[in-house]
Parts: sequence; structure tokens; C-alpha cells
Amino acid sequence: MELIVSLAKRRGFVFPSSEIYGGMGGFWDYGPLGVELKNNVKAAWWRAMVQLRDDVVGLDAAIVMNPRVWEASGHIAGFSDPMVDCRNCKLRFRADVAYLRPETAQGIFVNFANVASTVRRKLPFGIAQIGKSFRNEITPGNFIFRDREFEQMEMEFFVHPSQEDEWFAYWVEERLRWWTDAIGIGADRLRLRPHDPDELSHYSRQTTDIEYAFPMGWSELEGVADRTDFDLKAHAAASGKSLSTFDEASGEHVVPFVIEPAMGVDRAVLTALLDAYEEQQVEGEKRVVLHLRPSLAPVKVAVMPLLRNRPELVEMGRRLASDLKAHMAATYDDTASIGKLYRRQDEIGTPYCVTVDVESLDDGAATIRERDSMTQERVALTVIRERLSTLLAAG
Ligand code: ATP
Repeated sequence: MELIVSLAKRRGFVFPSSEIYGGMGGFWDYGPLGVELKNNVKAAWWRAMVQLRDDVVGLDAAIVMNPRVWEASGHIAGFSDPMVDCRNCKLRFRADVAYLRPETAQGIFVNFANVASTVRRKLPFGIAQIGKSFRNEITPGNFIFRDREFEQMEMEFFVHPSQEDEWFAYWVEERLRWWTDAIGIGADRLRLRPHDPDELSHYSRQTTDIEYAFPMGWSELEGVADRTDFDLKAHAAASGKSLSTFDEASGEHVVPFVIEPAMGVDRAVLTALLDAYEEQQVEGEKRVVLHLRPSLAPVKVAVMPLLRNRPELVEMGRRLASDLKAHMAATYDDTASIGKLYRRQDEIGTPYCVTVDVESLDDGAATIRERDSMTQERVALTVIRERLSTLLAAG
């Protein structure tokens, strides 16, 4: 873990929040590379959960909601309310006007009728959301594993009550597959752990966690919960609005049951970094390499000149990088020797480096170097963009 914390700080993935004032426990800022990695993780989830499916749509609800939402959802019993005394009127008030949400799910439940009526989906269908959540964790820690401000990706999948078990099983398998196939996490470092009845949340009938072998032990990455009709019924009762839907298959009005895969973006970023990290010995020197999936890597291609004191090469490299930028996350770097530049890119997980050398001026070609195998391939500049696109798509 210390290696990842130090890499994250050194290379600009994650910094302690308000660090110049000593930081603040449980709050973190994502630096230039971290924000790219985080965005790539979110894009992978959104693509798999919304864009590639016909039965899930997206939502972006406000963080601050009417406090009655939290009364109805059963969360308020777990909140503590700071009080303030007014010296003039001698009355006591709650210090807050509203709550920061501890989960994004309630924004989905209170919009169930809005979304269902606008998208006209038949059961089963889901609503997905990515957004910030806040928990006043007593012991934040393990870097970005447990934060007080963090981001969640949650999807509420509404099903006919009779199909609760089959959809629960489906989403457990589907989500496990996402971690291996989309994020590239080794299957041997993932496991499923069904909750014991006494650890279930107040709204859940069954929950299975997807756990990862973190340095501090097996811990939760994501939870798949069977929330039954708990939330929709509670909001219908508290708001007086109907939250049932007509189920064409059975010809009846039902309050759907909800299967919820819920995960934290920050934990996913930490997991991707931990799982990708490797130290190797190459020709007697230490090489740190992040084997990130190309789709997750903050930088896809780094262009560099073999000799940085040759203006023609600098010019050629800069031009190539700026051409590539329109198509992929490309960068140009000539601030060190070529060996150092390769190591720098390996350490941040850049899948491909492209080097222009003196021969490039004659043969109009450059060398592509692959991060993991360090193998090299000479490719004509006229087709190098297509070649890189093909390589990146294959990864
Ligand atoms: P834990 O048991 O680790 O406290 P939880 O069971 O309270 O987590 P859920 O309420 O199921 O977590 O939230 C869904 C997901 O949100 C978790 O699987 C985790 O990835 C993420 N998450 C929850 N709490 C935090 C936190 N404090 N910091 C970062 N991510 C979190």
C-alpha cells in the first residue's frame, strides 16, 4: 500500500486534500493523472451499465435532497444531528438545513415515477447514477479505501417481485465479470462473500459483496443488494405518491423489487492501481510498471525524440503528438533521456511510447514500444495513428 500511496503522490494521481494546511482525514484530491484514471473507470462502468444495454438508463440527481427523503428511507435513525442554541429566542435548532447524501440511490428512488413515465420501459429496467456520497466515517483510512467524501456508481434494477432471486444472481455474476473483463483485475484476487443475516442493511433481504485481496486483507469492493420494495414503499407512504407500475407480463400493478449493484469509484481506482503495480529488474535496474488496461491508462501514447538537442526531431515529435491528440490521449515529452522517459511512462501505465530518431527523417517511420513486453515495432508515420488505434482497441 505504501508503494501505491507514494507513487500516487509522486506522479500526481492523488494528493491529501488541503495538504498545505496539514490535510484533512478522509478527504483526497485527484491530480492530473488521477482525474484521468478516475474518469476512465467511470466511463467503463457507464458504458457497461448504461450505453451497451437496452434496459438501463442514466440519471444525475441533486446531492442535497428534501430531508424527508432520509426520514422515509430509514437513514435518519443513523444520523447524528448537531444542535445550536439561539441566545435571543432561547430555542434549540438543528444546525443543518439539509443532509449530504450517504448513498446516491435515494435520488433514483424518488425519481422512479419521473423516469418510468418518460422512458416507457417495461419491467425489468434499471436506473444508473454516478455521484458523490458522504459518510462521517469514524475511522477513514487505507488511503482512498475509506473516505468521508467519495464517489459511488449505483444502479437500481426494478424487477417483478417474483423475479427477485434470478435477477439478484444475474447481477452478482455480471458485476464480477465487469471487474475481470473491463477493469482487468485478476480473478484469483476477487471473491464473492454473501452477507450473514445479522450484517444485512436495514433495507436488504440478501447482499453479496465482491471482495478484493487488498494489502490489509479481503475487503469489500462492491455490494450487490436485494433491497426488495423497501424504498419505493417507504417513499410512497411518506410522500403519498404512487410508486407502483403496470407490469404488462402479469397484467397487474406492482411495486417493483430492486436489485442494486453499488460500488465506490475511489475503491475502484485504488484497486486498479494495486492490481496493476509491478516492480521488475531489467538489466540490473528496477523498473516500476503499471499494467493498466489501455482503456484505463491516463495517457495512451507518449511521443519522444531519441535526441532532444535535434530541432528537426523535436519538431517531428511535437507534430506527431499533436496529430494523435485528436484521436487518443497523447502527450509529448523530451525533458529527460530516452531511458528515463520510458521508465516515467511505464510507471504511470502508458501502454505505448513512440520514438522518433534520426532515421525517421529519412524513412518517415517511428518506433512504437509496448509497455509490458518492451518489444518494439517500426511503423510508417503515414499509418502510425491507425496502428496505435488498433493496438489500443485490442488491449
Ligand atoms: P464498508 O463495509 O466498507 O463500510 P458499506 O457496506 O458501508 O462499505 P455500501 O453502503 O454497500 O458500503 O456502499 C457501496 C460501495 O460504496 C462500497 O462497496 C464501497 O465500494 C463504496 N464505499 C462505501 N463507503 C465508502 C467510503 N467511506 N469510502 C469509499 N468508498 C466507500
